[in-house]
Amino acid sequence: MLLFFLVLSLTRLTRSQELEFQPQPTHEGTTTVNTDLSVAPEIAQLATAIASARPDTAAPRTDGRIAGDLADLAAVPQRWWDLVRFDPDRPLRIHVPGAPGVWLLVLPPGAAADCDCRQATALAGEAVEIAAGEGPGRPLRPGRVRVHGTGSPHRLRGAGHGYSVSLHAH
Ligand SMILES: [Zn+2]
Repeated sequence: MLLFFLVLSLTRLTRSQELEFQPQPTHEGTTTVNTDLSVAPEIAQLATAIASARPDTAAPRTDGRIAGDLADLAAVPQRWWDLVRFDPDRPLRIHVPGAPGVWLLVLPPGAAADCDCRQATALAGEAVEIAAGEGPGRPLRPGRVRVHGTGSPHRLRGAGHGYSVSLHAH
């Protein structure tokens, strides 16, 4: 368990470095701050070097990579739990900030929604994904990522008596 959290925090550290690299801010009232603006070009060069070292800059987003990202996100509820809202009258599709192409789908009991995701996983409650001509559909399960091809629209239907919350990616 400790190892799990260690890996998780390392993963997040790496991501935040990739996505949010910025020059160090200066702090007033300390004597060790270098306020010489001539270092700015060096910081810019450093940022460029880091950006070009990112392994996924030019690589296509493979299904495996998207699934890994989706599973990582599902395992960190603090990134999405506060976004979840419940509307008894309609499904809610909620974009997850910092995760392009990823959204939460919150279905009230018994509701259904059209979905065009490439991948999905369950977060809470029960839901079934129904592809065209597929019959009763297959349940989404927590800890597993369902992979669709592109261009395979389907429906997601809440099952059970409560709300269902699931995570989807293009
Ligand atoms: Zn879907």
